[in-house]
Amino acid sequence: MRRTKIISTFGPSIADPKILQDVCEYADVIRINLAHGTWDENEKYNHKRNIQLIKETAKKLKKPVAILVDLKGNKIRIGDFKNHMIELEHASDINVIFTQEKKTNKHEIFIDADYCFPKIEIGDRILLDDGLIQLTVKSINQKNMALKCQVEKGGLLRSNKGFEVENKIIHRSGLGEEDKKDIKRLAELGIDWIALSFVNEASDVTQAREVLTQIGSRINLIAKIERLEALKQLFWIIKACDGVMVARGDLALESGPGELTGLQKDIIKQTVKGKRIAITATQMMESMISNPTPTRAEMTDVSNAVLDGTDAVMLSAETAIGNHPVETVKAMHEVCMGAETYQESITKNEEYKFSEINNIDEAIAISSMSIARNMEIKAIVALTESGSTALMLSRYRTNIPIYAFTRNEDTQRRVSLYRGVISYQYPFLVDSMADVIEDVRSELIGSSILKSGDLIVLTSGSPLRVSGGTNSLRLINI
Ligand code: ATP
Ligand code: MG
Repeated sequence: MRRTKIISTFGPSIADPKILQDVCEYADVIRINLAHGTWDENEKYNHKRNIQLIKETAKKLKKPVAILVDLKGNKIRIGDFKNHMIELEHASDINVIFTQEKKTNKHEIFIDADYCFPKIEIGDRILLDDGLIQLTVKSINQKNMALKCQVEKGGLLRSNKGFEVENKIIHRSGLGEEDKKDIKRLAELGIDWIALSFVNEASDVTQAREVLTQIGSRINLIAKIERLEALKQLFWIIKACDGVMVARGDLALESGPGELTGLQKDIIKQTVKGKRIAITATQMMESMISNPTPTRAEMTDVSNAVLDGTDAVMLSAETAIGNHPVETVKAMHEVCMGAETYQESITKNEEYKFSEINNIDEAIAISSMSIARNMEIKAIVALTESGSTALMLSRYRTNIPIYAFTRNEDTQRRVSLYRGVISYQYPFLVDSMADVIEDVRSELIGSSILKSGDLIVLTSGSPLRVSGGTNSLRLINI
């Protein structure tokens, strides 16, 4: 059983139902980035259709595949090129034009964000596609809102990639109207997690939370950490959100190449300690966009994220536009499985000792883990409504599998991001605890997960079926 969860980004490469199904055999969560693709239902592949397809696929596989959606946010992006990409040669000239137009036929770059034009000065360094391509501003034409630039680092530039200026914040802050509209659409479609870009402070998260609360939605929020600014506020951001993404693409532009690894470790540790979900993202298996096997460096990077204690590792372009999406998730699955066998992947208890116990749920989770570490416990079973006990249990990185038995389908999907947690749809049709235990026993023994006589910890609440009511733990020889 793999403990670390895998997120795979949706895109043309996995839009075919058969391929998506193969990807979902390994992926626990499918991510859609609203920055790419469209809501336009006249288009064959629109967000609504894609979300429905993911749900149908999950149903077919009888697997609670969750859906995570990245809002468009305030990330500034370049427009479309006629052939989807252009080649930028080192030392050549290129014009960057600020315009409402979306598409260009010429060898030039369009940007639909005129508000940042006044902030750009001669000599500025422009970073495209997370800094893969770099330009220097040579002259500025105020009237045409155009920049004449020289290519410092060339290469292939695809449509819709990110646009940044080194050492300057040029994007708008806060939640835009379009994002609010998207949140409402997503709530209607019933997705599980929403990721917020460029979170600088906790209020960026609470703003989105307010929109969700107003419409009665319980979608969970992920704060993408991609600015050094956010690190100063990390404690409060963690408190405000349900999960954090180490968005290494933009973060590396600010942190510098050597510091990124340490930041990743710190962010993951603080997030898990703060009882939230940690996701490690960007370029984890980048070479597999074109190659059928990962590089040694990629194997090591994914493994190190596992050892850092991440809940999930993420694939972006590898599955969205890559040539080997199925091979990539499979390779990631294998690397995670291998990394989890290394003893350091089991975090030492001391590191995750929680300084305070805030409620009964937490007390039960902590006690369960303490027992599980010191006895031959084969599994922990949590009877859960909201998944909060499963969350607490999984914040302790023991390697003991946690089975979340729940009757709620959204809880089943939500916990699919929690490290070490496997969910079971359990309808709770019986009333006595003895009958529940009998059901758990036949389920786990029936699926060959445990054998008769194995010792397990079972957490539950009394009365049964009350959210947040976990108040007991039992040791059971099943
Ligand atoms: P972010 O910084 O928010 O992660 P990104 O532009 O890097 O944005 P990703 O979601 O990480 O985007 O995906 C990586 C790449 O995969 C994108 O830059 C894009 O080229 C491609 N891609 C992703 N989703 C789609 C899609 N639905 N259609 C076409 N291409 C896509
Ligand atoms: Mg990216």
